[in-house]
Amino acid sequence: MNPSFPAAALTLFLVVGCGKEPAPVVADRDSAIDVVTKQNIEAHLAFLADDAREGRMAGEPGYEAAAQYVAGQFAELGLEPGGEDGWFQQVPLISYRLDEESTVLIAHRDGKDTRLQYKEHFTMGGDKVREENSLRAEVVYVGFGVHAPEIGYSDYDGVDVEGKIVAMFDNAPGSFPHNERAFYSSGRTKAKQAIERGAIGVITLMSKRMEEYYPWERVKREAGTRPGMAWVTLTGEAADYYPELRGSAMLSVEVARDLFAGTPISFDEAREATEASMPASTPLGFEVTLARKTKHEVITSPNIVGIVRGTDPELADEYVVYSAHLDHNGIGAPVDDDNIYNGAYDNAMGSSLLIETARVFAASPPRRSILFIAVTAEERGLLGSDYFAHYPTVPTESMVANVNLDMPLFLYPVADIIAFGSEHSSLAGTVETAINAEGFELTPDPMPEENIFRRSDQYSFVRKGVPATFLVPGYTSMDPDVDGEAVVVEHRKHHYHQPSDDLSRPVDWDSAVRFTRANARIGYAIANDDARPQWNEGDFFGEMFAR
Ligand SMILES: [Zn+2]
Repeated sequence: MNPSFPAAALTLFLVVGCGKEPAPVVADRDSAIDVVTKQNIEAHLAFLADDAREGRMAGEPGYEAAAQYVAGQFAELGLEPGGEDGWFQQVPLISYRLDEESTVLIAHRDGKDTRLQYKEHFTMGGDKVREENSLRAEVVYVGFGVHAPEIGYSDYDGVDVEGKIVAMFDNAPGSFPHNERAFYSSGRTKAKQAIERGAIGVITLMSKRMEEYYPWERVKREAGTRPGMAWVTLTGEAADYYPELRGSAMLSVEVARDLFAGTPISFDEAREATEASMPASTPLGFEVTLARKTKHEVITSPNIVGIVRGTDPELADEYVVYSAHLDHNGIGAPVDDDNIYNGAYDNAMGSSLLIETARVFAASPPRRSILFIAVTAEERGLLGSDYFAHYPTVPTESMVANVNLDMPLFLYPVADIIAFGSEHSSLAGTVETAINAEGFELTPDPMPEENIFRRSDQYSFVRKGVPATFLVPGYTSMDPDVDGEAVVVEHRKHHYHQPSDDLSRPVDWDSAVRFTRANARIGYAIANDDARPQWNEGDFFGEMFAR
């Protein structure tokens, strides 16, 4: 799962499900889904989340070993290699690291220069391409940095940001419909809107939510511990690079409060206005210098692709794509003397289920073909999936749907499932039927403010017009003595993107098996249907990214 906050990590909160009794399990005697076993899933998980994989950082030996393992499993299952080079599609990546010693943030106010301290007061990322950046400019506060005239909202009306640094909060207005909020809250959308108006730098401010779940102690601990990455196009350019933006920083709340003092708006007034979805943009009347140096390295890291060939000659060149990210966060800042970020749930679990889903389809291929892809560098910004979506090894038009697996939590006997994204297309009915058949209830997205639909690899496919869904367990436990929400929130706060997301986490294996079976049923339903899935008429994402 990719963090929701810029330059940060965390979150996905979970609201309790409806508390209904689970639907009865429908027996399915003659289906290949019976090949899914706890033992197989557990064996993959044990390999992928082992300390020896060192947290599977893209480009590192631990990830390479994991990639070889997945390819080996695909081979054993009799899949067809679907990469560019056998099982692999090598993704070229720029790996870059901020030179922390070089970071400069100076506030120029009232004739006085105040030099702030990296980590104590601010953090910043590196530049994807340039070795050195330095700029000094006025700062303009721009709310969320969102311009959405079709919703009657703009943070840019009435302010001139040409040649200026824009200061903005994470996320997008809570008053937006949730699809629009997901789209407008993305860093990519915000960067484009800022540079269209001539902005040259971005300062990120912490919302209350971000402050609550990503306290500055954690920001400090993790700052600079991992490389940033960008994938490289066939013409050698860094993808999603906005050279117009020459500097960026994130301020602690305390520092932001000091800097806003005496300007037309106080920090707390600004933050309250965003909470109320009210634009309150204004020049702040002071300047800031931002400077940094960045070191770059070009590396590659593979996606792993295997295909189960469909049985219907008419449909076998169409694909249902199952994806799961294989990478995690590598070695980082120690917590309780443990510096290996194993990512057992995130996403050794999803990768293990991907392999077992492949076992099901290999045992009994459907009419359409099924493409399985373990992607790299999701944690660095959905990079492996985005690369594949741009340079697919099968034609884009031939991909009829994407089913993504990312961080399914089986911390208790799971009674319900959230299916992100299915409501946008004809997949909705398919998904509900499939999960009911495994005894799960469908729960609507209980946390639209988390914008999860754009925060994992399915969004790379959605941006190419492919209908997608991404299932995660809901918060209802079949055990009435377990408060599912509390258990999941505890995981999010204390284990998500932490070294303790490791093999010591509890797993309800029966839930893992049923969840895998449910995901496989979705693929069968799509792959055997005469018609391919369709976006709903007038759907926001369907229209935005129409093929
Ligand atoms: Zn993650």
